[in-house]
Amino acid sequence: MLLAEFLIIHLRMSGDLYVTNSDNTIDQHAHTTITFDNSSELRFSDVRKFGRIYLMKSTKQITSKLGPEPLSKTFTKSILFNKLNSHKRMIKPLLLDQHFLAGMGNIYTDEALHLAKIHPARQSNTLSLNESTSLWRSIRQVLRDGIKNNGASIDWVYKGGNQQNYFKVYGKNNQKCITCKELILKITISQRGTHICPNCQKL
Ligand SMILES: [Zn+2]
Repeated sequence: MLLAEFLIIHLRMSGDLYVTNSDNTIDQHAHTTITFDNSSELRFSDVRKFGRIYLMKSTKQITSKLGPEPLSKTFTKSILFNKLNSHKRMIKPLLLDQHFLAGMGNIYTDEALHLAKIHPARQSNTLSLNESTSLWRSIRQVLRDGIKNNGASIDWVYKGGNQQNYFKVYGKNNQKCITCKELILKITISQRGTHICPNCQKL
């Protein structure tokens, strides 16, 4: 009998969870299967094997290290503004830091900063209250849109929904910005490929 009470699954980059009948052939990337009494199975398939599964008595060990959840009611505009103000870091790597804010990856950070018209190299403590509020709104907007569309599919490894059809800047280098027609640029910020409109997002 297992004493642990929580099963925590982190999909990381290429993890995929699905339910199927246990009679169905197990795909070569399904590294974990959980069989239920009704003979259905939950399978965790992960091509790149970055995913993690934890079995633990408390979720604290994982969640206590994470920053606020952006879509929770407790993540308010003023919490973001105060957090940005208390750090003197470049905004993009700060948003990607899971201790600062949970759940923002490279794609959604680029999209949120673009929507808020903020250059990714801005120092976090230089954002005005209006800019911070706009960023707060944009972060929640891009995450909600992504969830509504079941995430993005980049290739056969990173498969999800169809959010990639709604990207405004990510992967759009050399295409026109839909707001101002300037060409989207791909630059490097803290070693991460970063997409911006140089006109909408001035430094
Ligand atoms: Zn633009």
